[in-house]
Amino acid sequence: MSVELSIPLLSQSRHERLACPASYVHSEVYGTKSPDNEDSILGNEVHAILFNWAVHNWADKSSVTDQIHLESTLRIASHEAAEIVRHFLDNFSLEFRHIVGLEKHLTGGEDLEGTLDVVLKESRGCYRVIDYKNYHKIIEPTTFQAKLYPLLVFLNYPDATKVDFTLAFTRYGCVRTVSYSRQDMPALMELVEASRARQIQMHENPKQYEKEAVPGKVCIYCPLLRMRECPIEGRNPMEMTPEDRLLWQEYLKRAAKANDAVLKDIALHRDIKAESNGRQLKGGFVLKETKQYPMGQALVLLNDWKNTTDGEDDLIADLHISRSALASKLKAKKRCVLSQAMDDIAEVEQRTEFEITES
Ligand code: SF4
Repeated sequence: MSVELSIPLLSQSRHERLACPASYVHSEVYGTKSPDNEDSILGNEVHAILFNWAVHNWADKSSVTDQIHLESTLRIASHEAAEIVRHFLDNFSLEFRHIVGLEKHLTGGEDLEGTLDVVLKESRGCYRVIDYKNYHKIIEPTTFQAKLYPLLVFLNYPDATKVDFTLAFTRYGCVRTVSYSRQDMPALMELVEASRARQIQMHENPKQYEKEAVPGKVCIYCPLLRMRECPIEGRNPMEMTPEDRLLWQEYLKRAAKANDAVLKDIALHRDIKAESNGRQLKGGFVLKETKQYPMGQALVLLNDWKNTTDGEDDLIADLHISRSALASKLKAKKRCVLSQAMDDIAEVEQRTEFEITES
């Protein structure tokens, strides 16, 4: 196995991969190729069409898009990508005259890099970065990328005093934005430096990390998963001592959490379907609604109801509010009397539960 000595710049994707040291070391230090998957292929195609749409004569465009050029691009695109882009552009527009870069590769000294889908200068000192996301789920811009890209703009455009980072969701045409001012630079720098330091450690001592597998969403792009060489592959849960089972339980708990995150990450791009013993399983994001009633108004209504039924239908008597719903409020010193009074009326039920504790 040949070891790559130079340390690549820290990017969004390398930062994500650092979450699993084994995966990082094999792909970035030893150079094992990561597989493409259908979601990344579709995402790349959508990005390429949007780049082509925006780059075509963008310096001369007004706010009117070049429909003829766009249609000729969409005719040779895949059906799904063309549909996504058509729907997206019904709800999204670019101020072409403000564009200062498309697919703009920026570096931050010897340490950082990123390729920004769109960079706009909207007014004096005010920049905007647009990042297209082909996700099924709308997420908030709280990721590492949402900090790295504004930092790269501050480092490369000395006149930038404010940077808006906007995620544009191609499937929905909606956006989410976070803003940073130049005063935020030290905090942004601190965050990326911590990640860069960890990256350098892994390059300097890969052997120490090559077996440290931490499952998570990075598994989707991991070469070791496809090659069935993940360090945690092949455990047999049936041949275990009770102590091993305790450890296995802890592992399963973490694995289930990690698997849940991986499934949700895949579901950002598509629904997941599988058959299990004749049952069709489907995993994906669905819209849910929760309904709750404000306590004060509900009590008035329930009391009125009780009176209209001459006290025969008293729903209040069966209602309970959980201790956990009030716990944080009852902690306040000024409410100690109320807290005691509540404890005095509490109905306590005892039961046993299996629990794993740490000491
Ligand atoms: S498959 Fe294994 S090595 Fe690869 S990212 Fe997942 S846990 Fe890490």
